[in-house]
Amino acid sequence: MSKALIIGAGGVANVVIHKCCQNYKVFSEILIASRTLSKCDAIKASLGNTITKVSTAKVDADNTKELVALIKSFQPDIVINVALPYQDLTIMDACLETGTDYLDTANYEPRDKAKFEYSWQWAYRKRFEEAGITAVLGCGFDPGVSGVFCAYAQKHYFDQIDTIDILDANAGDHGYPFATNFNPEINIREVTANGSYYENGSFHETPPLSVKRVYNFPEIGEKDMYLLHHEEMESLAINIKGVRRIRFFMTFSERYLTHLRVLENVGMTSIKPVMFEGREIIPLQFLKALLPDPASLGPRTKGKTNIGCIFTGTKNGNPVHYYVYNVCDHQECYKEVGSQAISYTTGVPAMIGASLVLEKLWKKPGVYNVEEFDPDPFMDRLSIFGLPWKESFDPELVD
Ligand code: NDP
Repeated sequence: MSKALIIGAGGVANVVIHKCCQNYKVFSEILIASRTLSKCDAIKASLGNTITKVSTAKVDADNTKELVALIKSFQPDIVINVALPYQDLTIMDACLETGTDYLDTANYEPRDKAKFEYSWQWAYRKRFEEAGITAVLGCGFDPGVSGVFCAYAQKHYFDQIDTIDILDANAGDHGYPFATNFNPEINIREVTANGSYYENGSFHETPPLSVKRVYNFPEIGEKDMYLLHHEEMESLAINIKGVRRIRFFMTFSERYLTHLRVLENVGMTSIKPVMFEGREIIPLQFLKALLPDPASLGPRTKGKTNIGCIFTGTKNGNPVHYYVYNVCDHQECYKEVGSQAISYTTGVPAMIGASLVLEKLWKKPGVYNVEEFDPDPFMDRLSIFGLPWKESFDPELVD
């Protein structure tokens, strides 16, 4: 019987909220708080009758004072941050001030620089420890389940993991010439940044989308995928002891990439302010306003996602190859909670991580990445709450 404050009312929040209500024995009461109150109310209305008591509030999560006041009046046991990465630090500050556990799905990014890394949030470790509260960082799918998969592989199948390839495939089609499956601003900042991989103790950068592989994904088929920089590589390089190489690949269609190149070439993906008719605008934010809202893609998106990790290494001196992945169907997600699979695969793990903190299975004072907790209860709950996983010991490897 616990209370959760959920911040944000976008595609991912919608899934977290539906899933908390399914897990009503843990989440007896939730408060949905976001910048636009009508979006919170619309999610609440979409839930129908629930055992979980649901209320809504307006909050500016860039403002720690407002957050502290809201937390003090609602007194949640945990804050689930599914707003944007820009709000991570203000929300962590409010959790510290009120002694409340914290969980998010994406690491902090400053607004004016397309750069994401854990240093800003890891700097809170000592203060969270001293306050006796837990922060779980990056508990979506990737980051999130990808890290849990690593901890699970390490715990059960390997003495030594040598290489990790995280493969994120989306074979969904929403019928638009160009749209992003989660917040367009965050998505485009990520995709247009330099790629990177970890090898032999350091990170190596590659020009954006310059490393391509073709992979035959189970239940999806052959797809082009591209090396990206992705935040979980930073924590996995530290937490998976002795790992030699970590890479992250994501699939993109030729159509998506062609649109992206044109938008980039004309300056529409820039985050540098420009003057337009007497006022300053940021081109990428203007583009976001033109693109379809990811939350609206649910009814139109057909097809599946496949996200997983391939490991090579050894157990008892013998070589092991291991692939663990989830396949998720966009239309089934939409039927269940009114969101497409990208929001679903992010929101379900966030609810699971929060439930494990509330049930004290993942409760320890400090700031942690998901692979630093016991993966087993999380893996069990993935199957119970709609993201069953599959494994193979003879996967096609990525060259
Ligand atoms: P959306 O843009 O759909 O939703 C974000 C929500 O946050 C909106 O409701 C928005 O309000 C609200 N918000 C933004 N700024 C503030 C603020 N200052 N105060 C209060 N509320 C605010 O994004 P998604 O739901 O697609 O993504 C949510 C998070 O999930 C992002 O951080 C994203 O990076 C992360 N993510 C993680 C993944 C993973 O696998 N780990 C995968 C996909 C996403 P408003 O409605 O007014 O704009």
